[in-house]
Amino acid sequence: MERPQRVAVGSILTECNQFGGKLIERDEFARSQLARGEAVMSIEGGAVGGMLHTLKEQNASTVPLVVASAYPGGPIAQDCYAQLKADLLEDLAAALPVDGVLLALHGAAVTTEIDDVEGDLLAAVRALVGPDVPVVGTLDLHANITTQMIRHADGLVAWETYPHVDPFTTGVRGARLLLGTLTGDYKPAMAMAKVPILTSAINASTVGDGPFADVMRLAKSFEELPGVLSTSALHAHATIDVPELGGGGLVITDNDEKQAAGLADRIANLMWEKRFALEPDTLTPEEAVEAGLKIPGGPVILIECADCVGGGAAGDSVATLPALMDLREGFAIVPVVDPEAAALCHGAGAGSTVTVTLGHKIDPQWGSPQTLTGVVTSLSDGRFQYTGGIWAGEWATMGPTAVLECGSAQILITTYGTYEWRDEQFRALDMDIAGAKFIVAKNPMNYSQTYREIAKGEFVLDTPGATPPTLRHFTYHKAPRPYFPVATEIPNFTPMLLRGSR
Ligand SMILES: [Zn+2]
Repeated sequence: MERPQRVAVGSILTECNQFGGKLIERDEFARSQLARGEAVMSIEGGAVGGMLHTLKEQNASTVPLVVASAYPGGPIAQDCYAQLKADLLEDLAAALPVDGVLLALHGAAVTTEIDDVEGDLLAAVRALVGPDVPVVGTLDLHANITTQMIRHADGLVAWETYPHVDPFTTGVRGARLLLGTLTGDYKPAMAMAKVPILTSAINASTVGDGPFADVMRLAKSFEELPGVLSTSALHAHATIDVPELGGGGLVITDNDEKQAAGLADRIANLMWEKRFALEPDTLTPEEAVEAGLKIPGGPVILIECADCVGGGAAGDSVATLPALMDLREGFAIVPVVDPEAAALCHGAGAGSTVTVTLGHKIDPQWGSPQTLTGVVTSLSDGRFQYTGGIWAGEWATMGPTAVLECGSAQILITTYGTYEWRDEQFRALDMDIAGAKFIVAKNPMNYSQTYREIAKGEFVLDTPGATPPTLRHFTYHKAPRPYFPVATEIPNFTPMLLRGSR
């Protein structure tokens, strides 16, 4: 009997923001996911879960490396990344020779010193295993693909859904691509075609009839063609400022780079055609509140995309509060991350009247703290269980948390920012979601699933922050120019082609 294929599995996965957010350090990985050696083998979820499942199913043997993932934030601290990378390479070196390597990556990670974390890691892994051992990586749909990534990976496959529901199956796709390469069923050839579109994620759902859903459908239709192994449509995370920034189409064929390049180009061209629909219409908080008050009932969802913890922002904006504290009808629910204010409310106790200086302390560049007096109506240790999205059933913590009632605003003050799959954070403190006139949702996409059944209206707010609904006001230093939406037309435009040949 042939010996089983030995496949190394590792992961360094987070999404970074270079315009704001909190530095990602080792504690952030430790709080989210940080496993090594045998502990990796029991991972069931996410891309790594899909990889392990498939390797087991196909009777391959898994060599576990480091698996580290953290909530989105600012850049990764360089020493933190250097340590994770060194540990992963040490485990890989100790396991050599291996037949193949699988890496679960994001594609939009940077450190305080490195613009292309995934390219850097793939290059280091390639240097260790040599040119002939296949290396396959999985990526988020918001990955920014670079020449370095394409050069050092044999295959890259990205999540197909936004809202994201498919990291596990993407892990399965990555593992199958690798195993088929190992058995000699095919030889992957990869090409990426990029478009200079820098837009927020808000109009880029893959569900329904939106512009990016059309792009994804075209990409996936190409997987039916003979010789095509995998296609991905990427809507690059635009709050990093790096060379080669942009989304587009990524195609892997069986040993036909020309076919891969041609199909990738078609995906990228469709995305360029759809660019205007990727830019959202926005209102100021005051305009949105006026418009919302004209709608009977509630809740009306105010989408404060600019302060999205899931995109790396701090979650500490109070930009909507002035418009919501003195409503002529109903009440509003507003989340704010502020460890000091949460501690002050806990110190005072439930039922107390307190004066707090709230917001803009973690990432002060986007606004000023506001001094408010209100009543502490409830307190909690911040533990909550996700009920939606791919983490359903998992527990997380906001740290010490309080609800402070200030006029018509009910403010959820948390110690940590947490990813919002649904409205678990509000429900954890029994906030009256259905009874609210307004709810501030600090995410560009998951609100649409959360409030689909009950929302009476939705408005995208133009507020300052690290993850704004439009990137037209940001100043990029390294990203390619010209780019949409600052330039709406580019004469003789053609997508930029990145090829995989080594
Ligand atoms: Zn994403």
